[in-house]
Amino acid sequence: MESYAGEGDYAFRGREGPLRVTNPEPHDPLFATIIKAAAQVGIQHNPDYNGVSQEGVAMSQATIAGGRRMSTARCYLDPVRNRWNLQIETKALTEGLVLDGKRCTGVRYSVGGEVREARAARAVVVSAGAFNSPQLLELSGIGQPERLRNLGIEVRHELPGVGENLRDHYVPRTRWLVGKKGITFNDRARGLGLAHQVLRYALFRQGMLAMTGAPIRAFVCSREGLEAPDLMLGWIPMLFEPSPRGPKISRQSGLTLYAHAMRPESKGSVHITAADARRPPAINFNFLSSPPDAELTVRAVRIARSIMTAPAMTPLQVSETAPGADRTTDDAILDWVKKAAETTYHPVGTCKMGSDPMAVVDAQLRVHGIAGLRIADASIMPTLASGNTNAPSIMIGEKAADWCSIPQPDPSLNANDRFRRVGGARRSSLFHPLALLVEGRNNAPASPGLRQCVSLGSTPSPASIIVAVWHGIRSASGHSPAADDRFGGSTDTGLAYASIASHSLSFDHRLRFRAPLTAIASAFRCQREAL
Ligand SMILES: Cc1cc2nc3c(=O)[nH]c(=O)nc-3n(C[C@H](O)[C@H](O)[C@H](O)COP(=O)(O)OP(=O)(O)OC[C@H]3O[C@@H](n4cnc5c(N)ncnc54)[C@H](O)[C@@H]3O)c2cc1C
Repeated sequence: MESYAGEGDYAFRGREGPLRVTNPEPHDPLFATIIKAAAQVGIQHNPDYNGVSQEGVAMSQATIAGGRRMSTARCYLDPVRNRWNLQIETKALTEGLVLDGKRCTGVRYSVGGEVREARAARAVVVSAGAFNSPQLLELSGIGQPERLRNLGIEVRHELPGVGENLRDHYVPRTRWLVGKKGITFNDRARGLGLAHQVLRYALFRQGMLAMTGAPIRAFVCSREGLEAPDLMLGWIPMLFEPSPRGPKISRQSGLTLYAHAMRPESKGSVHITAADARRPPAINFNFLSSPPDAELTVRAVRIARSIMTAPAMTPLQVSETAPGADRTTDDAILDWVKKAAETTYHPVGTCKMGSDPMAVVDAQLRVHGIAGLRIADASIMPTLASGNTNAPSIMIGEKAADWCSIPQPDPSLNANDRFRRVGGARRSSLFHPLALLVEGRNNAPASPGLRQCVSLGSTPSPASIIVAVWHGIRSASGHSPAADDRFGGSTDTGLAYASIASHSLSFDHRLRFRAPLTAIASAFRCQREAL
């Protein structure tokens, strides 16, 4: 998936994927000082935290290359934008899934007030994110029966897990004034400094405008004996302050250091409040409802403090403004956390993968109990990844693309031959690992190719590009319809794709993700077994 530019162990890092990942050097004196201070409290420099070990302090690896965000629109969609079999629709709002009994046969969407329908004979893949994928299911009658009935929605399929298990990172941001002049971005992005940064970016695509928001981070164990870090810290090299139009860069010079539990256990929910796709669902995070989360957050704040007050920081003349040096007890810190912490916009889990009664999709992203329906986005992660969620979401899109593009196996081949053949066919096919929305039979009147398209995406920017593709590919191996509905189609089967996984923003990210890796492993196992 990734194309990583830095030094690193080839066993762990991808070099040829579409998603470019870079790793800045810690040359800036501010970052070098933080790395030194962390080492003084026992947190060592780890140049590649996506390698063999995650633990340590490091420059943030980012999906940024040449000073540009490497969004899925850029890395996955741009290269195929002009394909004859790709149709992109923007300003489209998906209002519901079309169900025929327990089979999904398409989607209903509106563009400029006009309601349209796209039919799919094989499968629909929903990628509307952790809030809107469950919303779409509920609007379509899939979810908790009583909740749906109360809103006047006909229950088409009972799935109690839809909208439950909402997890997110709840992050307090500690704030530090820095007395030494010219060190922080507050100082360096002021007046002529700002002009310098703008020029630097315009001419060389370098400088603070080419960086991720938190260019340095640490993965830390809350206590000895843990197998892997459970806390994350990230430094933003400036202070912000609230303003009526949102946070603005402070006139004071300082640092923001966020510190939080990486795999919180607190669970909330997201559910519709009306049978209307335009009405936002109600979100209840239940942050800190699991006691260990509160304990770990306090521990993370204490570790942040210990780094910021380590001897190496003395020349920077650092002083704490939040939570404030007088908040010394766990209760006092927790009290501040409850007032000051915020989401980091990493919602996951609301259509979780699994086989328990609350699971919504299986190990190949197929919705339990509904044929022809897959979900491919952050909502399927059963727990939070050990880091940020953008790259893991892209990985889910890649896996969905693999599964949806696997052609019919040739029953005359043995399992190993079949597996090889599937891999080869995938590489040579027109498929591209974007994210898929619909696989459909060639029931449209035109030639096998572009047919019809499907929604996703409500704004015209690349950030919310919604793609619908009717892919008139004939199965590479040309087999008859199979009993297995995943790939069940004849040679007359076309594939309609939609919905680029829509990772609108390219962010610094963690490529380590435990649950998704488990998912990959089990998916591969299933795939082999299926063959
Ligand atoms: C402000 C912010 C900062 C973030 N920072 C980082 C970061 O630094 N690092 C990181 O790794 N992650 C970050 N994330 C998280 C990351 O963006 C998400 O984890 C990732 O985008 C999830 O991908 P997704 O495909 O599940 O959902 P999304 O990217 O949310 O895509 C869902 C898409 O579906 C569309 N959609 C929803 N409902 C409908 C409908 N009914 N009809 C049509 N279209 C619909 C939406 O418009 C959207 O385009 C950040 C997120 C935000 C909001």
